[in-house]
Amino acid sequence: MRIVVCPGSFDPVTSGHVDIFERAAKISDLLIVAVFHNPNKNPLFSMEERVEMLKAATAHIPNIEVDAFSGLLNEYVKQRESNVIIRGLRAFSDFEYEFQRALLMKKLNPEIETIFIMTNNEYSFVSSSGIKELAKFGGNITGLVPAVVQDKITKRISEI
Ligand code: ADP
Repeated sequence: MRIVVCPGSFDPVTSGHVDIFERAAKISDLLIVAVFHNPNKNPLFSMEERVEMLKAATAHIPNIEVDAFSGLLNEYVKQRESNVIIRGLRAFSDFEYEFQRALLMKKLNPEIETIFIMTNNEYSFVSSSGIKELAKFGGNITGLVPAVVQDKITKRISEI
């Protein structure tokens, strides 16, 4: 059974993420979307809220599970009996960060492979941070995030 882990902070999940999940699910028996706490980022949504939004946004994908974890990714991957991490790649700007992370992961655990899926043309410019910025200034985020997420962002932004 091929168990694949797709980790990220997903604050919040975007249509770009969902596109990666749909494609990753096709080449996995079980795709685990794992929300992690990134200490470098100050999140807009709590872990629980991010998990809830991810569950709603991926309800149409049968072989998916949404989970949350804290700590080392390589330990989480082993604990879930997986050896594959999938990440999405947008632009050159993602490359350096992802390259470093993939090599670090290889050093920590040589059996784990990190695989990259190229962004869909339609979403190459979509990022969680960009969406939050756009929403803050009243921009239209329709289609860039799952419908279930759209109202939640608008509401949260208006509260802060
Ligand atoms: P991080 O895990 O670095 O905090 P995110 O949670 O925003 O970042 O994203 C998780 C993964 O999804 C990363 O591999 C990121 O490059 C990828 N990703 C984000 N947005 C897109 C997009 N529009 N298209 C493809 N991949 C994306």
